[in-house]
Amino acid sequence: MAKGRLTNVDTRGSPSPSQPIPMDETAPIDESISHTISLISDKKISPSDLRCLAQALAQADEEFYTFNKASFASLSNEEKKEILLSSNYTEGWSKFRTSFFGQYAEELSKLSELSVEDRKKAIVYLFSASRNIAKAINNKFIDPLSLSNNIVLHSYGGSRLASQLFTAVQPAGSYKTMLNLIAQLATDTPKFPLGHIAVAFDNQQIVGRDYRVTLGATQPVSVVTTLIVFAESINHNMQQIPVPTSLNLTTQQQKLTQAFKTQCITAKNIHNKYRTDWIKARLTIAVKESDKSGLDDCAASIKAKTYESGLEYDRVPRMKSSCTITDMENLMMNPNSYDTVIKVLTTITEMSEASDPNRKWITVYCDGQPYNLASKVIDSHELCSTCGASGKNLKCKNLPDHVTRPLFDKIVLRPGAGHMEMNIVRAFFGLFFDVLVKPVAILLGFTTPRALDFCKKALDNHKSWQIMQIIYVSLSDEVIHQFVKFAAGRNIQISDENFTKWINEPRTDNGNTP
Ligand SMILES: [Zn+2]
Repeated sequence: MAKGRLTNVDTRGSPSPSQPIPMDETAPIDESISHTISLISDKKISPSDLRCLAQALAQADEEFYTFNKASFASLSNEEKKEILLSSNYTEGWSKFRTSFFGQYAEELSKLSELSVEDRKKAIVYLFSASRNIAKAINNKFIDPLSLSNNIVLHSYGGSRLASQLFTAVQPAGSYKTMLNLIAQLATDTPKFPLGHIAVAFDNQQIVGRDYRVTLGATQPVSVVTTLIVFAESINHNMQQIPVPTSLNLTTQQQKLTQAFKTQCITAKNIHNKYRTDWIKARLTIAVKESDKSGLDDCAASIKAKTYESGLEYDRVPRMKSSCTITDMENLMMNPNSYDTVIKVLTTITEMSEASDPNRKWITVYCDGQPYNLASKVIDSHELCSTCGASGKNLKCKNLPDHVTRPLFDKIVLRPGAGHMEMNIVRAFFGLFFDVLVKPVAILLGFTTPRALDFCKKALDNHKSWQIMQIIYVSLSDEVIHQFVKFAAGRNIQISDENFTKWINEPRTDNGNTP
């Protein structure tokens, strides 16, 4: 669970090549040093002499390699946290450059001759190399920056293998060291942001592959639950006031019924506005086409270069959200069973209460199976405030003095709009396939049984949407063209009001008014 891990990990310490790197001028070289340099470059110093020199340099640089496990373990938790959060790329590099070895490495890679861009890149690699060399010299060396990187990596992925691969090539301490450290430091309860918030959770699946047929084989799958929080920029304090939900239906029924009626009227008004706009647009196009080529010449209409289709297949433009979006830590479980969904809902409730105990409700978005399970759990699970028992059909419910309430009464569950849309499209295709969709699908090239089956199941939401729009436009135009012809013959003004009047007139099977 999230509680066991370090929260609020600060990533300030991550290497960022864009940070300014101080590059001071090369200091004037002392006479004795230039003498030593000339001895080395003239190969007048033997390799064993050089070894002595290196030893002396290592001793002089000792301070740089002394951050070992023993010294780190003796620090207090506060000091450890401070070191991890303040470990900083620029500072680390500056410190390294003042060491003998750092200056040697800098000269070796001819940093001063590189372009600014290349130098930035080279410094990142050089700094990384310096930390690894420190580890090679002092086996117990722990680099705070590597360790905090590993904690961030682990908090996102939760993978032991990933952490071990990381520590195999970096002085980040062992996997166990990191887990112990996290256990020591994770004292804060994870919590949601303050203000008006909504939470969405979903399962993130990584499906593996097994190429052998074996008895009782299962697909290797790794699933985590991702949690995203949307916080409104303005807090209306709405979440401090209880809202009517399915759980308090008896007391709120009248209010809910009224809210539903109002919602129906609003939806109808919005729909009418869009329908009128649509009819107006199609009428304009039909009139233009009838002026140019006559409405019966479909071939000419299609060939026309300035054909105004009115089709908008593009993606919905992304609106700038007024919400701040926070990516919470993943929960290491698959929300596909009652137990795990209860854990997810409990975590959400706890994190909401941890940030604001007065929050009366919180919107939770989820889809598919997690939604079905969660809605059943919310309706059936109770908590006894007397003995603390929780679950379905509580035994203590009939005992005197035991007061129960719905366990998840703070959660207002909602399906995501995207999934609702996909299901509506699928329902439309399933219901009307044979009578309406299939003939269009065949015209559009879904000719083989497999292609038609794919189309009927509406497996590709983008394609299904396009097909639906094509049907919508062509059906509208068929009626609109009839009206334009009808109006032209009778000198009736072409307008959306007259169209509505005409279409609502009772008529016989052959389309004539009786
Ligand atoms: Zn009880």
